[in-house]
Amino acid sequence: MIELMKLPYEHDALEPVISKNTVEFHHDKHHQNYVDTLNKLIEGTELASLTIEEIIKNLDKAPADKKQAIINNAGGVYNHNLYWEELIPGGASEPTGALKEAIDKAFGSFEKFKEEFEAAGKGRFGSGWAWLVKDGDEVKIVSTANQDSPLSEGLIPLLANDVWEHAYYLDYQNARAKYLSEFWKIVNWDKVAERF
Ligand code: MN
Repeated sequence: MIELMKLPYEHDALEPVISKNTVEFHHDKHHQNYVDTLNKLIEGTELASLTIEEIIKNLDKAPADKKQAIINNAGGVYNHNLYWEELIPGGASEPTGALKEAIDKAFGSFEKFKEEFEAAGKGRFGSGWAWLVKDGDEVKIVSTANQDSPLSEGLIPLLANDVWEHAYYLDYQNARAKYLSEFWKIVNWDKVAERF
């Protein structure tokens, strides 16, 4: 039985970058819906006793007729957990220490990294996510469609940005690029460093 993560701050804590209204719909409705749907799908299967991370890493154990729905909804639960956690107000406003070194090595600078990350988010056609992931000792940017999670590919997700319209449409309408550039104001890089 998977439970909806409790939001680690008030619904208005991400304002003005992400409004209380968006967080209420996004966490309390969308994220809750992924949790509820996933629980129905895994009931009676061998995935039912696993954690959300274990489900994402063991998708081959999903019954064939439910597999795609489990991919969608387990990703929907896990990806949003990461997203809400990395946005906890406070903490470092840019990468430090070993994470900073890895980002500088891979992209040249934090500024360059941000440009490439925003481009990955803008370039994702339709719904999906932009990610900074750890691949061995290195970091790289990937984007995934729908609720696919890099964790299923053996990568360690460090930073996630949700580019589904439900993440930004109430606040930015069709201006996905603006949402992507405002996003940096609310990332807690201490949380990202912990994952690294
Ligand atoms: Mn979402």
